Amino acid sequence: SITGAGLYTASDQILVLTPQNVNSALINSTAAVVVEFYASWCGHCVHFSPVYKSLARDIKEWKPAVYLAAIDCAENMEVCRDYGISGYPSIKFFNAYSTNASMGKYIRGFNRDLRVLRQLIIDRMEAHEEPAPPACPPLEPISQAEITSFFETNTVEYLALIFEESTSYVGKEVTLDLLQFDNVSVRRVLRSEEALVSQLGVTEFPSCYLYYPGGNATRLQVQIEARTFYSYALQRLPGVVRFGKPKPLSTDLFTNNTVEPWRAFNSSRVYMADLESALSYSLRVELSSTAVFKGDALSALKGYIAVLAKYFPGRPMVTNLLKSLDSWLKAQDGAEVSYSDLREVLDLPAQVPNSGLPAVVRWVGCQGSKPHLRRYPCGVWTLFHVLTVQAQRSNESDASQPQEVLKAVRDYVKQFFGCRECAEHFVAMATEGLREVKTLSGAVTWLWTRHNRVNNRLAGALSEDPHFPKIQWPSPTMCPTCHGVKPNGEHSWETDQVLAFLVSHFASDRLLPDYLV
Ligand code: FAD
Repeated sequence: SITGAGLYTASDQILVLTPQNVNSALINSTAAVVVEFYASWCGHCVHFSPVYKSLARDIKEWKPAVYLAAIDCAENMEVCRDYGISGYPSIKFFNAYSTNASMGKYIRGFNRDLRVLRQLIIDRMEAHEEPAPPACPPLEPISQAEITSFFETNTVEYLALIFEESTSYVGKEVTLDLLQFDNVSVRRVLRSEEALVSQLGVTEFPSCYLYYPGGNATRLQVQIEARTFYSYALQRLPGVVRFGKPKPLSTDLFTNNTVEPWRAFNSSRVYMADLESALSYSLRVELSSTAVFKGDALSALKGYIAVLAKYFPGRPMVTNLLKSLDSWLKAQDGAEVSYSDLREVLDLPAQVPNSGLPAVVRWVGCQGSKPHLRRYPCGVWTLFHVLTVQAQRSNESDASQPQEVLKAVRDYVKQFFGCRECAEHFVAMATEGLREVKTLSGAVTWLWTRHNRVNNRLAGALSEDPHFPKIQWPSPTMCPTCHGVKPNGEHSWETDQVLAFLVSHFASDRLLPDYLV
């Protein structure tokens, strides 16, 4: 890259095209590809880029059938010229199995509305010439006759039928949202399929039914009859898993593959044991890889401990320790602090009974079904959320430092968090967005939205515990009032409700003390 000014990175779920990869991406691909041709200097493109990124997050489950790519024409003029591009941004659709003669077809009429963009892409998928992308499920409506013979030719456990008007896209969107999941097929049924509509007593359009061999059906219970609610509920039916992932066995949780016995816990609550464990691992293990703190690392350390001393809602023995660590650090006015000196202060109270931070790490809400899943990173997120909520609650009247906790968290992650790739992603997000945080409540919701972005990126990844799938959190079951739909049918977060939920979920007086050492 000459200027490095490209608007997208791989972590946006958008394939960044270059002269080196453009042919392999667009020619003879098994999936259709939507390409945005832009110029990084074009203000309109910069303005459009968050929309394109949201679209990529929104339709990432569709990837095996159709995915998004982008190319910066400011840096790759020849490629863009070869594809006949003269204005930016231009979006073109490339069929699967395109030849090198293909110029793609313009997608016109798009705007900043995700729903419009999705529908334009679906229109192209429906008009796709043969051969269609093999991963693309049928998007046309199913007839009663096909339903009757469905289970003769399919072995899936669930057939989800979405009853809707012919102009609706909900059924097609949900079909694509479930594309990467095993054991469930989704088909749309038009309202005009009268015999079936009356057989099942369908009166609401859209509505979703699970249809079983033999002709029985049950209505899928959702809070709102809309795409995201259907997709969320279907992806979580018992027995439905991502392709290639083993079905989670409940015995995984109890067999002794994690050395320690499984601790029963309530997954809608926060445990102090996880917070203390994260703290202990962070101070005793993660920080110990830095022998001497100086410069930015020293400031990051001081900032982190200061925020912990102020806001960690721990037992007195722990908060006293954090306060003494903080005062000791503040008194170190040299250019360097060694980890061994810090460790001495940290371990000092251990000689006095019931004081200090227990060295034992004991995960509860952050237990994983395998030793390499969840645990510390889960504890770190939980700790960070608790800190933003504590700051919000204790400083209601003083909003002079709305970014205090987030900056400390960002600098800790940047300097010390062991997963370096995680750190890079997180710091990139924080650089882009922290400036917008103007209030302490804003800091709470900022961390929530960024954590959800990470969840979105990691859904289905190897690091996902099959027993704890990555979701856009909190789920409709956990917080029904957090979810709503916009007039155009798109999912919306009710941000005031989410804030209230976060503040109560992570509140110090609701932390559970079970399993503490
Ligand atoms: P976690 O995502 O760790 O969440 C812990 C708990 O927080 C959940 O159980 C839930 O109760 C709650 N929660 C979930 N979502 C939210 C939300 N939006 N707001 C508030 N609370 C929520 N892993 C990678 O593979 N690649 C990465 O780039 C990466 N980056 C990371 C960056 C940071 C700063 C951190 C702390 C971790 C990162 N990880 C990354 C690890 C990954 O995010 C998870 O922590 C890990 O996979 C364990 O997941 P989990 O299922 O325990 O839930």
